[in-house]
Order: sequence, then C-alpha cells, then structure tokens
Amino acid sequence: MKMAMETRILVIPFPIQGHLNPMLQLSKRLVSKGLKVTLVSTNSSLKPNNIISSIDFEFINDGFDAELNPETFDEYIKCFKVVFPQNLAKFMESRKSLGFPFKFVVYDSGMPWMLDVARDLGMDGAPFFTQSCAVNAVYYHLDQGTLKVPSEGCSVALPSMPLLGSDDLPTLVYETDSRQSLRELIVNQMLNIHEPNWILCNTFDKLEEEVVNWMKIQCQIKAVGPTVPSKYMDKRLENDNDYGLSLFKPYSETCKTWLDSKAINSVVYVSFGSLAAVGEEQMEEIAWGLRRSNSFFLWVVRESESQKLPKNFSEETSDKGLVVSWSPQLEVLAHKSVGCFMTHCGWNSTLEALSLGVPMVAIPQWTDQTTNAKYVEDVWQIGVRVKVNEKGIVTREEIEVCIREVMEGGRSKDFRRNSEKWKELAKEAVDEGGSSDKNLEEFVAAIVST
Ligand code: UDP
Repeated sequence: MKMAMETRILVIPFPIQGHLNPMLQLSKRLVSKGLKVTLVSTNSSLKPNNIISSIDFEFINDGFDAELNPETFDEYIKCFKVVFPQNLAKFMESRKSLGFPFKFVVYDSGMPWMLDVARDLGMDGAPFFTQSCAVNAVYYHLDQGTLKVPSEGCSVALPSMPLLGSDDLPTLVYETDSRQSLRELIVNQMLNIHEPNWILCNTFDKLEEEVVNWMKIQCQIKAVGPTVPSKYMDKRLENDNDYGLSLFKPYSETCKTWLDSKAINSVVYVSFGSLAAVGEEQMEEIAWGLRRSNSFFLWVVRESESQKLPKNFSEETSDKGLVVSWSPQLEVLAHKSVGCFMTHCGWNSTLEALSLGVPMVAIPQWTDQTTNAKYVEDVWQIGVRVKVNEKGIVTREEIEVCIREVMEGGRSKDFRRNSEKWKELAKEAVDEGGSSDKNLEEFVAAIVST
C-alpha cells in the first residue's frame, strides 16, 4: 500500500470567515492523519502573511477587488462564480502538467460544480458542509420538492426533525427576490448531492443523531466535527490553539485583561459573527438591554457596525461593559468569567459555545441561524431564544429577561448542566476512536488506497 504521506489533496474553502475556520480545522485534522494539504484561497480574503506551517497555501484570483461586506456579498458571489472556477481549473491543470497532480479535492458545499472540475481532471472530490445536518436536511427537502414551505405562523413536520415553525426554517427558504445570488448558492448546495462518494459535514453523530441517520439514507454523508481547535477539545494536535487565520484584528490582550478582572460566570459575551448587520433601532435595544441586565458584558461590534451604537454608550457603560471590534472568540468562550453567550447562532459560534460548555441567548438574524436557535433552545436545551415584537425587533426588556434567565434564572442550572454534557460529547466525538475521528480515518484511508 502507498504511504499516506505521498497523498496530496486540494482543499477549497468559500472565502468568508465562517467557512474558512471550519475548512482550516478540517485540513489540520487531515494533515494529522497523514495527508498533505494545499489550501486554496483568493486574493480578496486571505493575505499571504497568514501562514500555518502544516498547510501549503495557494492564492487564486477571484476577480473581486471591493471590500466584502453584507452590501457587496451578492455582487461578490456573482463575480466569484465566474472568475474563480476558470482560474482554479488553470491552476489544477498546470500542477498536473508539471507532474504534481492532486489526488483528491475537498471543496465547500457552496461549489457543487467543483466535483465535475475534479472528475474532468481525473480526481474525485467531496463537498464539506459547514452548516448543521438539520439545515442540510431542510435544503435537501427544498431541492427534492418535499418541503411545503409553511406560511407565517404555521409549522412543517419533516422526518427526523422537531416540528419546525415558519420562523425556525432557514430564512432563505422564504426570500425569493432579495439576495438572489446568495439564495442560489445555498440552495444549489444540493444540486448533485447524490453524486459524491463522500460528503463531509461539520457536526457529530450524537448531536444530531436522528437527522444524521436520515441523511445517511439519502446520501454518503459523514459527520466529522466539531472543527474546534484541538486545544479546546482532545488536545491531540500540537500547536492547534486557534484557527490561525482571522479576517479581522482581534483585541486579544484587551479582552483577556478585562475578563481576568471579573468573577466566575459573571460576563455575557455578545457577538453576531463576521457578516450580520443589525438595524440601528435593534442595536439600540441590544445596548440598553445589556445595560438593564446588570451583568458585565463583552460586546463585539465590528467597525462597519460601530456607528449604530447609541452615542457615548461605551463611555457611559464602561463600569459594566467592554466593546471591541473583534475578539479572540475561542479564548473568550473558554474564559471562566464568561457565563453566557448572546449569539446570532452562526453555526461555528453555536458549535464553539456547545463545545466549550457555554449556555446561550440565541438572537438569530438570517440564513441557517434561525434553525440553529431552534435546536439550541428546544433540542439541546442549552439556552433561550429571544422573541421579536410585531415590528420584528427584540426589545431591551426581552433582552434583559433572556440574559437574566440564562445567567441566574430558574433554569440556569439546567442550561449549565446540559452545556457540560454536550461539551463532553463533542470532545468524545473528535478524540481517538470517537465517531468523527473514525469517519475521518475511513475517509483518509479511502483516498490513500485509490
Ligand atoms: N469570531 C471571532 N471573533 C469575533 C467574532 C467571531 O473569532 O469577535 C469567529 C468565531 O469564533 C467563528 C466565526 O468568527 O468561528 C464566525 O462564524 P459563524 O459561523 O459563527 O458566523 P458568521 O460570521 O459566518 O455569520
């Protein structure tokens, strides 16, 4: 049998923070199992100074020069879809003609066309889904025509999932005209779902047991997550302390010093990830809700959002809060002072909180975050989801009530106990012999032996 060390694969993430992080971690795990990995990214995201020594980086032009933010996102996808595949195919062909072909391609599930590109060049490929398996299943039903999208206030029953209300379904199930390119990208993930011989998903079997089993009947899916750095999980990967690649500059020392000065479980950490844009009125309600909760708070407000903060808010609340434009999120969640995570429920943030045992206040914004919030509250029972008023706003009173409920309310001990349980199960899944570890071993063995 050939040695695994000879096998080089190409890994192609979608170049936004929430997709880069899990793909990088997956790559590190594949390297630890003996594969050589070349990770492709694009000129508009990764900068060449972000180097992780165990992985080779290749930069390929995606034709986009403007800043990537919620306003330019749709435009970016349009551009990416046209320019990137052409440049990528050229690169892969050139490697082949130089005598250094790749053996296999792992690509973000948002690029289903990659399978044909790979197969045309004599390789095989596997998509990596960076969303939950429940969300995959919803999109699968949408693609197969087996999801009857419920009208507002109604619910839908899908196999192996809890009853999903209209506000639990991913929001893009409803959006038909706005953000067309994004919607297309998301829905098209399922375009050729029956074709790949391997489909990887950032979840773990016990977390979504029923729906993982159901999806396994439909396609070749394997749960290989959570892709949280090894330091916080099994500790088997040397120097895997962080994702190692941030599109924003984290205020690490500021956060650490501030958190160190606070008592155990006394801080609410607040972040809405790398993309979500909150309306001005909503921002104000969050700000005063945090103030009213009387807890300490560490709030990430990205630079592009900061002008929406109430005037003088940071100064007026400096006895209770710290506002930064980006945090070292894993370090923050692992800090003993943090008692609760008020999150938009991006899948990475959800998995990180779950893997580090931090109860949540779910304040979902869009895409799959609504479904993740449903699972946080009703399935895993590790927090509460805020309610929106008739204007679609979460009021300051609601925010206060939810924070108090998770931090000190009647159910706070249950949330903490359940969070601890999921933390252990997440670690078990990626540790030696765990379900995700075994799935990765099988995957690597199959690539090496073909
Ligand atoms: N993140 C971070 N610092 C912050 C906010 C977020 O490092 O201040 C990281 C977080 O740990 C996660 C990613 O950015 O890995 C965000 O991904 P997620 O899927 O939660 O949300 P998205 O940004 O895709 O909406």
